Amino acid sequence: MSYRHGRIVPPSGTKFCQIAVVGARPGGDEVDTGRPFSGPSGELLWRLLGVNRSECWVTNVRKDFSDSHSVPTPPEIYEVLPALRDELTETTASLFIAVGAQALYALTGNASIEAWRGSILPCSLVPGRKVLGTYHTAAALRDWPITYIIERDLRKARREALTPDINYPARTFTIDADLGTTVEYLNGLGDPISVDIETVGMETVACVGISDDPTRAICIPFIGGRLTPSELAYVWRRLHALFLSRGIVGQNIQFDLTRLERYGFRFPRIAFDTMLAHHLLYPEFDHDLGFIVSIYTNEPYYKHEISTHLWPYNCKDAACTYEAYTKLLKELKQTEQLDYFNEHVMTLIRPIMKMQEAGFVIDQPALRATRKRLDLEREYLQLLLNQEVGFDINVKSGPDLRRLLHDELHLPKLKLTKKGLPSTDEDTLRRLSYDSAQHAPIFKRILDVRERRTMLSGFLNLETDDHGRYCANYLIHGTKSGRLSSRGRGHGPQLQNIPMSARKMFVAAPGHCLIQGDLKRAEAMFVAFDSQSESLQKLYTDALINPYCEFASRTLKRKVSKNEETIYKTFKTVTHASNYGMAWKKLIIILRLAGINIEDLDLRGLWGAKSKAEFLIESYHAMAPELRAVWHPRIRRLVRASRCIHDAFGRRRLFLDRMDEDLFRKAFAQRPQSSIVSVANQGVTRLYNRGYKVVAQVHDSIVLEVPEENVQHALVDLEQAMSTPVETWGGTITIPVELKVGYSWGSLYEIQRSEDAGEVLGSCTKENRHDLSSMDRRQN
Ligand code: URA
Repeated sequence: MSYRHGRIVPPSGTKFCQIAVVGARPGGDEVDTGRPFSGPSGELLWRLLGVNRSECWVTNVRKDFSDSHSVPTPPEIYEVLPALRDELTETTASLFIAVGAQALYALTGNASIEAWRGSILPCSLVPGRKVLGTYHTAAALRDWPITYIIERDLRKARREALTPDINYPARTFTIDADLGTTVEYLNGLGDPISVDIETVGMETVACVGISDDPTRAICIPFIGGRLTPSELAYVWRRLHALFLSRGIVGQNIQFDLTRLERYGFRFPRIAFDTMLAHHLLYPEFDHDLGFIVSIYTNEPYYKHEISTHLWPYNCKDAACTYEAYTKLLKELKQTEQLDYFNEHVMTLIRPIMKMQEAGFVIDQPALRATRKRLDLEREYLQLLLNQEVGFDINVKSGPDLRRLLHDELHLPKLKLTKKGLPSTDEDTLRRLSYDSAQHAPIFKRILDVRERRTMLSGFLNLETDDHGRYCANYLIHGTKSGRLSSRGRGHGPQLQNIPMSARKMFVAAPGHCLIQGDLKRAEAMFVAFDSQSESLQKLYTDALINPYCEFASRTLKRKVSKNEETIYKTFKTVTHASNYGMAWKKLIIILRLAGINIEDLDLRGLWGAKSKAEFLIESYHAMAPELRAVWHPRIRRLVRASRCIHDAFGRRRLFLDRMDEDLFRKAFAQRPQSSIVSVANQGVTRLYNRGYKVVAQVHDSIVLEVPEENVQHALVDLEQAMSTPVETWGGTITIPVELKVGYSWGSLYEIQRSEDAGEVLGSCTKENRHDLSSMDRRQN
């Protein structure tokens, strides 16, 4: 035991205060100074609170330091509650700030800090006082963006400390009203309106909530309400007219509209999605309504009420969504993001809904073959892994991985799970492999087995609709760059990481073919122009040059062709790595995780992974000195000054993490990635507007299913839809679109001109015969 164990740190400050700050238990620094919140997490707390500690009462639930339980256990908390009650009663504080989950639990009995932080709550320990809980500042030291949330909470705390009263927002709810009241309410609604449904199961609408002002909302039950069927039918007609004539505001509005449209309602004007607005403004955070409400309103947490007070809950959702909408709208205007939001984000909702509905036809025999192959691969890789680590390891088991990482390999614990255990998620494994090069092959193997298992379970559970089609879901808010992410429908696979071989099961419907447009080398080309590097620009504008081969040829001083797969892949990776400021160490690992050992590369006169990686990176920078001289410094300056980067279309990305090299690297990647995403997304919207069936948008490509006889025309439209001029810092460019045609997603063939499509399709029909014949069999 340490000399600190059991030592007491008494409260400090003044009892004649407006604010009492309550932590969990003193840390080592506090024992040494003898004052609570005097170490790094305390310093951060005082800086964010903006109130002098001498004006507050500063204390902890447990006053004793513990070697074994830095966070007190529930019995440890119960033991000291009476003393804590007496202590806090003696203060004049109108507000207790609970720093972290344990203090919140002690003061209110609420266990979840995620749910209850940011809410003003009555104190159950000292009746008559109020509590505001926030994340512990120690967590923010590990996960810096949390600082922003704590800061918002503490701003609220300063306001609330001025009065002992609890003032929740006044909202009037009209719930399950009679016909006259309901119709009158609907007639009096302004424009826009927020709409929110609650469902029974995932699909059946139980009730609809509507609001046009944060102070009021109506809930109309579709099930179990007082209206007779004929009255309800009348109300539905009124609702129908209302939805046709108003702008619709919603939280993840796609969910509500999809279901309401099955009832025959139509929504021609989708005005605002609070979830998508929040994602555009703060990509780093959660975007669920509970979180948004905690930041933008004074409504205390209410999400648990769904199971006990469905109709009032529905009203709260509608009114709070409306309130959040007014605040988010203001913030979008202030940050000059409103135009981007309207033109590039809101316009995506309909096309995405349509794309999800379309889906791909599944070739069942190909699906079965893929499952079998994946299963064999998984078994083989697992065997190799077991041999390498020396025991039978389950790559999805936390205890197994912790045993390997920390007991056997003695690697550091990089982050903790919500339960406080060392994390073993993919991000952790990747970070560990960056830091411990000698173990990278094991991590690659673990990730490979995990990937096979995830894919296998996706393919095992893949369910098709009545037309034999598999429809994945897409999330507009799925990534920080704005790239769409796909999610498996039910337990089916998501579409992003499906390897080429498995893509063969996704095929065109009979009489149709698939065409794909791909933004060719888009990001690298963007960097070439954005960095104003003339030599890079030459590589990307000459259609006869393959930039990666050219870079390889110059560096290796011999002709390199695309067929030299390892070399090609290496130089492609080096290009991206250098563009985005990657260090040699990470380059080695990334190549290793891609199955390439840089040591095997023949670079005459060089020996060792480090010198080879450095040589490759330096060769690239020698070819494009503007990257380090102009482009990186410009982005660094912008991020230092404002924490923001804007892409070529005006999309802002706010960086809330610590201002270090890691953050700058993310910032280098942001402009190219986000700008190209905008080009691809605009392509999806245009194609939707022209009536095309978009079946996938993955990476920088769009896939359409078109009738065979339309293929030429569709190819021209596809190319046009994806050809958007992009204004870089070095001039306006249009990324070339590579066109492909075929019958299955896994075997598409490149064509140079749309006129060649017929011929190419003619030759691949034979090859794909098994796909088509098996589909015909199933359909007959
Ligand atoms: N963490 C706490 O909970 N209390 C302190 O006093 C310091 C750190």
